[in-house]
Amino acid sequence: MKAEILSVGTEILLGDIVNTNSHYLSKELALLGISVHRQTTVGDNEDRLLDAIRSALKDCDIIFATGGLGPTTDDITKETAAKAMGKDLYIHEPSLQRIKGYFRDSARAMTAGNEKQALFPKDAYILENDNGTAPGCVMTNEKGQSIVVLPGPPKEMIPMFEEKVKPYLEKYLDSTIISKALKVIGLGEWDMASRVRDIITGNENPTVAPYAKDFESLLRITAKAENESACRALIDPVVAEIKARIGEYIYGEDDDTIEKVVGELLIRNKLKFACAESVTGGMIASRMLGYEGGMSKVFDEAFVTYSNESKTRYLGVDEVILKRHGAVSEETCHAMAKGLLENTGAQVGLVTTGIAGPDGGSPEKPVGLVYIGVNIKGTITVFRHVFSGGDRNRIRSRATVSALGHLRT
Ligand code: ATP
Ligand code: MG
Repeated sequence: MKAEILSVGTEILLGDIVNTNSHYLSKELALLGISVHRQTTVGDNEDRLLDAIRSALKDCDIIFATGGLGPTTDDITKETAAKAMGKDLYIHEPSLQRIKGYFRDSARAMTAGNEKQALFPKDAYILENDNGTAPGCVMTNEKGQSIVVLPGPPKEMIPMFEEKVKPYLEKYLDSTIISKALKVIGLGEWDMASRVRDIITGNENPTVAPYAKDFESLLRITAKAENESACRALIDPVVAEIKARIGEYIYGEDDDTIEKVVGELLIRNKLKFACAESVTGGMIASRMLGYEGGMSKVFDEAFVTYSNESKTRYLGVDEVILKRHGAVSEETCHAMAKGLLENTGAQVGLVTTGIAGPDGGSPEKPVGLVYIGVNIKGTITVFRHVFSGGDRNRIRSRATVSALGHLRT
């Protein structure tokens, strides 16, 4: 099946916004085995939009259009798509009621333009919008070609694609689609992909795709089959093969977060947690306490021991160690980890010390050098990292994610 992605919006042509919708849709469609032959961007201009749609209909089976579903007069995508397919528009009563309800609930005044958002061809498949006023739709012509019309704002478009378009495509493709995400810490996207390169390139169903997000990596495995158990039967052996290769870096699946996995591990084992952060300055504590699953049972305390004096005062780090090896050293990190458990009631301790820059680096101790210490009931392990290519806060974020990743093992 051949697809075209059509991004509608003068703002994109002017460079005022980045076209993340087409990036997202390209990646998602590839995973579903739908090949995208072309991406087109047009402004909010009826003639050119009509041209673009007609040209896409010459050689594509399905067009995914985003943008131009709003209430204003320059929002013309749905009207123009209907025109290209020779369809008239009618008020779709359930959509009108939903839009009215949306305005009632948010106590805002509905405009005449909002009413036009409920206009659809009679035979259109409506995609409800749970995050805004404009419903999307799929219209199909007599040749069986379809135009999927989606709103422009990503916070509306992405959930609509996930929750409404994918189930529609399952029917369209006559199959069930299921994906599983494996979440990875400790391997960058490229490293991860190169270790499983043959699995990525060697599989068409399920497809395997690497992503990088928030200093983590993930692999998404997507299968298409006649039903859920057939999908699982395709996914499971591939997951097992990936786990055999990079299992030590996989901390969870799907909606798992590292703080959830670590938090649950602590809760399950009834272990009290403390941290002492230099380079990450509170980010670990903040992240851990962001997990809503009962951290009060296990979170003991957290220190930001940024200065040498503070490392000595709160963690009992020997001044001689600091003087001889420096604050950013394996020895200091070890002493911090040791002192942390000696000075708190915790059984699990996590400490960081590093150079986030921009100043302070040297050939032996470059910017990005971070030591992470884990102390589990007195057994201390120190990990050394150099996080290159990034500004201060990227280094701090990466150190935070890595530190939590080390705690898992
Ligand atoms: P609205 O009801 O907000 O007018 P719409 O469906 O008419 O929504 P547009 O008017 O085309 O969509 O775009 C609204 C906003 O959505 C843009 O200002 C931009 O922030 C975002 N947006 C639109 N298209 C894209 C795109 N291709 N990639 C990323 N963001 C986009
Ligand atoms: Mg608009």
